[in-house]
Amino acid sequence: MPEGKKTNKKIIFTRPEMFELNKKILLKRGVTIDSIAEITFQQQSKYTDNISRSMCVESVEKILSLRDVFHHVQLACEIDRLAEEKMFQGPIQDIIYEDLGLFGIDETMGLDVSGLYGTIGQTNFGDIDVNKHGIVKRLNDAGKEDGICHTFLDDIVGAIAAAASTRVAQVTNEEIAHEETGVKRFSIFDI
Ligand code: MG
Repeated sequence: MPEGKKTNKKIIFTRPEMFELNKKILLKRGVTIDSIAEITFQQQSKYTDNISRSMCVESVEKILSLRDVFHHVQLACEIDRLAEEKMFQGPIQDIIYEDLGLFGIDETMGLDVSGLYGTIGQTNFGDIDVNKHGIVKRLNDAGKEDGICHTFLDDIVGAIAAAASTRVAQVTNEEIAHEETGVKRFSIFDI
């Protein structure tokens, strides 16, 4: 066992591995990449003309491969599952399971994830959190049923959609700036 490590278990993953693990756990909780990209498309269409679905999907996929997001997604999904299985002790079990309105740690995690794309990412998250479209609404509604807990999942999914929507805006702006300078490609400053 490596010095300083408590187990031999793998805890450092590559970005493709983190993407696959995130895709898998989200699917297990009933969330597809397309359903997240749908919210991204819906939100960003209001501000940017001619955005493509594929750019929305690509943005969601990129965000799902980031290490910070990986940790958030994995933790959020597991907290909900453990609350469904009544595994927490003390008042926090019911606070999470009942999705108490004044419990805001799920939103804190959403703000963290959407904040990867700055303040605009966070305001986009606020919009999704308040207006609840598509999969976020479905998760929120299903979470009210007995035996189901989506307290953390709806926020993490909304935050990924918001971050992806902000990335679409960033990429589009970068393309406009490149057109103006006459340079076609950008890669080193990939967004
Ligand atoms: Mg929530």
